[in-house]
Amino acid sequence: MSDTAVFLPGSTIGVMGSGQLGRMFAIAARRMGYRVHTFSPEKNTPTGQVADLEVSAAYEDESAVRAFAEGLDVLTFEFENIPVQSIQWAAESCVVRPSGRVLHVCQHRLREKEFLRAAGLPLPEFVEVHSAVALREAVGRLGTPSVLKTAAFGYDGKGQRKITADSDLAEVWSGFEGQAAVLEAWVPFEREISVLVARSISGETAVYPVCENAHANHVLDLTLVPARISEAQAQEARHLAERAASALELVGLLAVEMFLLPNGSILINEMAPRPHNSGHFSFDASVTSQFEQQLRAVCGLPLGAPDLLCPAAMANLLGDVWSGGEPDWAAAAALPFVKIHLYGKAQPRLGRKMGHLVGLGGSLEEAAARVCEARRRLQRL
Ligand code: AMP
Repeated sequence: MSDTAVFLPGSTIGVMGSGQLGRMFAIAARRMGYRVHTFSPEKNTPTGQVADLEVSAAYEDESAVRAFAEGLDVLTFEFENIPVQSIQWAAESCVVRPSGRVLHVCQHRLREKEFLRAAGLPLPEFVEVHSAVALREAVGRLGTPSVLKTAAFGYDGKGQRKITADSDLAEVWSGFEGQAAVLEAWVPFEREISVLVARSISGETAVYPVCENAHANHVLDLTLVPARISEAQAQEARHLAERAASALELVGLLAVEMFLLPNGSILINEMAPRPHNSGHFSFDASVTSQFEQQLRAVCGLPLGAPDLLCPAAMANLLGDVWSGGEPDWAAAAALPFVKIHLYGKAQPRLGRKMGHLVGLGGSLEEAAARVCEARRRLQRL
């Protein structure tokens, strides 16, 4: 299939995966007159609720994947843990953007780190670990504290263990059940930041302002944009993200998570070749949202401006907010500079991403105060 094909409004786009990222992508795509089909093992999904067609089948179901792809012009994805084999089946019938190669690199922590190192991009020291003996040697090399992470299928801190001087390494390794893993040096970061970058079929890039991210229990809690860092640091972070996207020869959107160190240097933590939780502010606060940008990139259209319209703060709404009963939506809605986004998930389990709020302001402090006040008002404690 052609690398330069352009898909205009009216075309049909497939999304592999059916969570909130696909949902917001589908909303952006339908607004511009595209048809959206989604594929995942689940039914009545956040994406399916707003798509033209929801297909429920396993990613490994070859005939279902092939039939899905035959109804599409272009296929993209909203999460990276899709078997590369499924993407290859689809690529026989429709254009796939980003390519299966990008997916292959980014869905495996070790491959991603080796790719970044080969591209000359800065990242924390790491050692591949395949056994208890290798873990002991790796801890000997990197010291403690350090972090052991599964190579595949990790997200939001899942599949991670911090290793300290008194960790029982045999016990830690048994928890990894023989899965390939990566030991990473501990990074005493000052801030966590992320940068979204889109890259078009012609190699043009659009880089968003740097996001500053605060996590709670390994899950993103609050994003502030623009990040409270120096102009030189912001430029460096944006440049690193652009270099990563170009090295990947990406067509689509890339989120690059980074650590800012006290000495001002920046290390790349991980990448995701899709919209990202830290980019949700862009739906309300940017000229072009990350979802519209993904759409433009994968359809071969020119990119939109990534400029920020005003300072913004995004607060995640996890299922925990429902602990005291249905949140007080009216109280939060009474704040006129706060936007409420809900993902259509029925069960508010603890830790589950149910929605988010975006606060807009004349200053970052004002935006953050508004979004925090809105989240406080929601909870009936
Ligand atoms: P990850 O799943 O790799 O994004 O990690 C989840 C979170 O764990 C990060 O956002 C950091 O807060 C923390 N973390 C991960 N790796 C390191 C590291 N090498 N040093 C310090 N903190 C880390």
